[in-house]
Amino acid sequence: MPFNKKITYTSLLLADEQVHAMYEEALEKVSEKYFGKHYPIYIGGGEFFSPSGEFEDRSPIDTSILIGYFQRSNVDHIREAISIAKQGFKEWSRTDWRDRVKIMRRAAELVDERKYEIAAVVTYEVGKNRMEALAECWEVIDTLNYYAKIMEENNGYELKLELEEVCRMVAKPYGVWVVISPFNFPLMLANGMIVGALITGNTVVFKPSSDGPLTGLLLYKIFIDAGVPGEAINYLTGPGDVFEDEIVMNKDVAGIAFTGSREVGMRLYKRFTSSQPYPKPVILEMGSKNPTIVTSKADVKKAVQGVIRAAFGYGGQKCSATSRVYVQKDIKDRFIEELIRETKNLKVGDPRKREVFLGPVVNKRAYENFMKYVETAKRDGGHILFGGHVLVGGEYDKGYYVLPTIITGLRRDHELFKNELFLPILLIDTFDTLEEAIAEANNTDYGLTAGIFSEDEEEINYFFERIEFGVVYANRRGGATTGAWPGLQTFVGWKASGSTGKGLGGPNYLLTYIREQSRTIVKEKS
Ligand code: NAD
Repeated sequence: MPFNKKITYTSLLLADEQVHAMYEEALEKVSEKYFGKHYPIYIGGGEFFSPSGEFEDRSPIDTSILIGYFQRSNVDHIREAISIAKQGFKEWSRTDWRDRVKIMRRAAELVDERKYEIAAVVTYEVGKNRMEALAECWEVIDTLNYYAKIMEENNGYELKLELEEVCRMVAKPYGVWVVISPFNFPLMLANGMIVGALITGNTVVFKPSSDGPLTGLLLYKIFIDAGVPGEAINYLTGPGDVFEDEIVMNKDVAGIAFTGSREVGMRLYKRFTSSQPYPKPVILEMGSKNPTIVTSKADVKKAVQGVIRAAFGYGGQKCSATSRVYVQKDIKDRFIEELIRETKNLKVGDPRKREVFLGPVVNKRAYENFMKYVETAKRDGGHILFGGHVLVGGEYDKGYYVLPTIITGLRRDHELFKNELFLPILLIDTFDTLEEAIAEANNTDYGLTAGIFSEDEEEINYFFERIEFGVVYANRRGGATTGAWPGLQTFVGWKASGSTGKGLGGPNYLLTYIREQSRTIVKEKS
């Protein structure tokens, strides 16, 4: 199996002209089929339109493209969806796990059948290029099949214990999970949390990001069409803050699965744990500030390719994006020179075009943040080595386009080195010793992904032993810190990046959605 499956798999498939033709055809088709319509929310399988009104979803590629109108769910909808999911739990939790596994495999087949259409919608909604958008679909297919396999390998988490005839350990679901997903992997991350909850017998109230509600709806329909009852999965849209009070206070919520920013995640965590009558699980996958270390023993070319893909792939809007590089002083000049040369070659523009590497940033707020961060860097003595401005004129005026940006010269404790920016902004610092670089890499609350480039095995081992991040890579040309794939890399955040220590894509993830039950039957001889 190729190590860097995401890149290898995707590049292989993209070498097939038919893949491009199908994707391009889907780009045309989806605008006619889906755009500009009013979409309901789904509770218990029924459609509802909200008296609280709708919000518009526009494409960051070109804001004149109106993707659709989506409902602003209100508290009554949220309450009703939780109540329906509680009723649905009775039946869904008692279905044989083998039947749930079958449904997940069917869902994988449906994603496969609909992948071009879904990928085209992902491109329109959040601005991903075709490689990233199709990769997300392939990743979803692999995740569904992977967790179907994991359930089987673990016999549905039923264990016969030593005293086989009297003792058993079974795993039981908790109940209703509220699943809240972010914009940047509108399909894959929503899918990961939903499959985790559903395959183990829980029911779901799903709220996608307001930047990707149509992708969320297409995913909801996959599960419904695969055979999940409408009471077991509910789809609600709307601004997050309307959801907060109800989901943290509602006693029928058994657990929260949230992927998104640290700020929102920590607030939900604190409020949920203090508002509920007893401890309940909260699965949080949050932000990060991922470092890559390039030592003097690195293959510089490889390091440059890996850093570029990880820092600027999907505009740095991946939780795994490299946002800071520590390069050893004696190769600093060569590394930076090559980094700038390669970054200049990246094609920025409309991600529907085949040659485009970097599409727009996701929305106006991200665009404005980009300008703000660049100004902050300049004000505080940073040198802009490349980029540093938004793109204007022609197609750029239609959406939110910015140049990939490389900055050096900021103090190590500067806010831009500490806070997650979630944009194509890369900060560079230098170091003398590997010990120093690792200490600086670890000098953050976050702990999702980290990378090293070095051809020296001892250095790599030294790094692996000391780095305090959940997903760590050495010499990864296809993405210094990005591109985890289900079944190969568990995607686990440490510290402020995650709450469970068991990552999506890894073998232990399903355990976070189930609780053990020990069953003992005593049969006394009469
Ligand atoms: P966000 O926190 O702004 O939003 C995430 C989701 O939470 C959205 O659906 C949003 O509507 C909802 N939300 C917002 N406020 C809420 C509230 N008060 N109550 C309930 N829900 C609320 O994050 P985003 O901008 O969509 O995504 C980017 C963030 O997600 C980054 O920090 C990134 O690192 C993180 N992320 C982490 C992982 C991971 O696996 N660790 C993966 C992807 C993204």
